[in-house]
Amino acid sequence: MIQKDELIKYTSIIDEKKDVLNAASLYLWENAETAFQEFKSAAYLCDVLRKEGFEVTENLTGIATAFSGRFGHGKPVIGVLGEFDALFGLQQVGGVAVKQTIEGKSCGQGCGHNLLGMGSLAAALAIKHYLEETGREGTVIYFGTPGEECGSGKAFMARDGAFDELDMALCWHPTYENSVITLKALANCGVKYVFDGTQAHAGETPHLGRSALDAVELMNVGVQFLREHIPDDWRIHYAITDAGGISPNVVQGHAEVLYYIRATSNSELKDFYERVNAIAAGAALMTGTTEHHDLFSARSNIIQNPALQKTMQEVMEAIEPPKPTEEDLAFLRELIKTFPPANGADPERPIHNEVLPLRPARISHGSSDTGDVSRICPIAQCATSTWAMGTPGHSWQAVAQGTTEWAMTSARYAGKVMAATAIQAIEDPSILEKAWADFRKACPDGYESLLPKDAKPRSLTDI
Ligand SMILES: [Zn+2]
Ligand SMILES: [Zn+2]
Repeated sequence: MIQKDELIKYTSIIDEKKDVLNAASLYLWENAETAFQEFKSAAYLCDVLRKEGFEVTENLTGIATAFSGRFGHGKPVIGVLGEFDALFGLQQVGGVAVKQTIEGKSCGQGCGHNLLGMGSLAAALAIKHYLEETGREGTVIYFGTPGEECGSGKAFMARDGAFDELDMALCWHPTYENSVITLKALANCGVKYVFDGTQAHAGETPHLGRSALDAVELMNVGVQFLREHIPDDWRIHYAITDAGGISPNVVQGHAEVLYYIRATSNSELKDFYERVNAIAAGAALMTGTTEHHDLFSARSNIIQNPALQKTMQEVMEAIEPPKPTEEDLAFLRELIKTFPPANGADPERPIHNEVLPLRPARISHGSSDTGDVSRICPIAQCATSTWAMGTPGHSWQAVAQGTTEWAMTSARYAGKVMAATAIQAIEDPSILEKAWADFRKACPDGYESLLPKDAKPRSLTDI
């Protein structure tokens, strides 16, 4: 382990690179692109990595917008995961405290992935700087991981071996607290159920029709009944993406419904998925239609690594969090007035700036494709107070905060925390020994992807 002053010294390169990093974050915000369509964002980040002396590989595992930037040699090999995809329908003006859409734009950074991609880039630059300064053996790889929202980009990359050489991985996410993330996100799969029946005149000859829409409705009813017989922490939700047309007088011959199925572990998810498949088959049987389904994305639950989390907690406490200016706070106080009342927002204290103590692992009911990386090597993740307390996720308010000085300062702090975690792991090999002991205990059978071998990443319009 090295002392606080040295950690601060090595990670201060992030302050020196502030202009490059902020420009990258603003570019990703400005050119917000959705899953597997992030061509401009990926090209920009590859360019920055090249200019900063990383060896860049594009088209990683055959995904056009996945890439890596590598520096150094030998072990340990440290992966820093950088997301950068945006969300459809959140075209909000930056830095304003009112809902105001941008004409002609269709996407926005509602999950703060412009900041996420930049904070991780900051970490990679600082780890490289440390390796150069000290001449230590070690490799840092920045992974450009596309399509986190809906796409499970990292799960495809993991299935195809992108992370196999890693000794540890690091990631973070913008939020409204400074903490080490100890959330056990759920395993999740996205499945499209497709029903085909027979069209007919709904008034004259309904007896000749077989309704695909009936099948979708019966499947959904079946799932509502299933809900009583699953553990409380599992989740299942759907969207009818094709109701069979807009004519009530035509028996619907084709209909589709998209499901997200979530369970606490991969093995439970497999069982849950089969139970939902049986309901879909039953709905087809009841309606005289045919059914097929397509598992288009899947991500594992996140495996915790207490040893690496402890190291991250120690460095997070050692590197003091930045302090917002009065100007930062004035904007956030205005913005907070627009938050839903039950969201914990406190106008007197928009930024919760302290570092929270390390908490025991607990369930979160969302899912993340970092889960797949967590089954390949030890991973630690942090959150920082990037947003005002109570900022709703996937909201215009999150997009609006994505261009502010405060958000970028907080993202660079996340970069420092990740870099310092890596530096400590290089300095003290016992950290990784303990991390791998934790990993083997939690994941004795290694990694098995939930994705079918032939599944390919899909953009939103391809599902
Ligand atoms: Zn999100
Ligand atoms: Zn996110």
